Amino acid sequence: MIAVKNLVKQYGDFTAVNGISFDVFEGEIFGLLGPNGAGKSTTLEIIETLRPKTSGEVWVDGLNLDEQPETIKKVIGVQLQSSGYYPGLNLTELIKLFGGLYNQPVDPKALLKLFNLEDKAGAKYKALSGGQKQRFSIATTLINKPKIIFLDEPTTGLDPQARRNLWELIQQVRNQGTTVVITTHYMDEAEFLCDRCAIIDSGKIIAIDTPDALIDNLVASGFERNKEVKKANLEDVFIHLTGRDLRED
Ligand code: ADP
Ligand code: MG
Repeated sequence: MIAVKNLVKQYGDFTAVNGISFDVFEGEIFGLLGPNGAGKSTTLEIIETLRPKTSGEVWVDGLNLDEQPETIKKVIGVQLQSSGYYPGLNLTELIKLFGGLYNQPVDPKALLKLFNLEDKAGAKYKALSGGQKQRFSIATTLINKPKIIFLDEPTTGLDPQARRNLWELIQQVRNQGTTVVITTHYMDEAEFLCDRCAIIDSGKIIAIDTPDALIDNLVASGFERNKEVKKANLEDVFIHLTGRDLRED
């Protein structure tokens, strides 16, 4: 679905993306993992046609980024920043507006239900909780029936319940046939969600594989954890005590 070859992005003298290459296959959840400043968002925004590249080549669904950026826009779904939602409109009206802009028939009620937002149909975006905002912005990426959606740190700042709920929704989107490209710096999230991931640091890809293979390679190199791993972690305790139910409603 995506091929990136020797992609470079310079901001003045600073090289944010330093010659990266990777492919994303149809129907997978592909993760771009890396610390803050690694170049994840820059890479995503170039593929999304929102930011010019310095050099390299990108194809999306067989379309060359330099030749057919407008056609690429039609096959992708991109999360808007919160400032992109007209403050005066409620969720139903926003979905209808996007449907109109994309010239696509859309059923706001069904879409909101899919993302557990049916009770918020008449609410304004700014009145939503963090998890609800993320769910709504992912819902809006689907309005133009894209083949690929891009999610840039969709779970940053969410509580454990909202995070797990979003993971399930992202899997659901993929199971309906949409390819998903996601960035995160949460490794548990990547391990749970991603079919394959690229680890990017200082603008370079330093590893790319399935989470299992990356872990197996590390273990095969002789790596051992310092202390014996417990059978649960603090997040397990938290979820066990507070439950999986979403709290925001
Ligand atoms: P990530 O999403 O992995 O945190 P970014 O792609 O946002 O990283 O940024 C990569 C690097 O490029 C960072 O050092 C960041 O400060 C720099 N950068 C991002 N956008 C700009 C810009 N518009 N102008 C100058 N530097 C930028
Ligand atoms: Mg970023």
